[in-house]
Amino acid sequence: MATVFSKIIKGEIPCYKVAENDKFFAFLDINPLSKGHTLVVPKQEVDYIYDLDDKSIAEIHVFAKKVALAIEKTCECNRIGIAVIGLEVPHAHIHLVPINSIGDLNFANPKIRFTPEEFNEIAKNIRAEI
Ligand code: AMP
Repeated sequence: MATVFSKIIKGEIPCYKVAENDKFFAFLDINPLSKGHTLVVPKQEVDYIYDLDDKSIAEIHVFAKKVALAIEKTCECNRIGIAVIGLEVPHAHIHLVPINSIGDLNFANPKIRFTPEEFNEIAKNIRAEI
């Protein structure tokens, strides 16, 4: 069965899209740790990120870098933290999280709520920097 992220990539489930190329897709996390929290996923449906071949692992990080630098320009933060958890959705993904301190990358922290309008605005601003 297709993962929720594959459905997002195909447009069957809505998302706040940030970037896309032939192999990867980036969109805002719906339960963000901070403003601009973005997920980068391969279009290839693999569960564990280390199931990607070496070329794809290198490429996803280059793609994520482009997205991260755009997030950094639009969301106030010290830098973009990177995390791979993957315990909830069985489709490999990299979390890009704007952070100011180490505690900001704690996934046990309460998530921030944004309205659809706010999510749209955040995604639009990031897209404009890519
Ligand atoms: P994990 O698999 O533990 O890395 O967590 C999966 C992440 O995907 C969580 O941060 C969720 O908030 C996020 N997530 C799950 N479903 C969606 C969705 N439909 N749109 C955006 N983000 C999602």
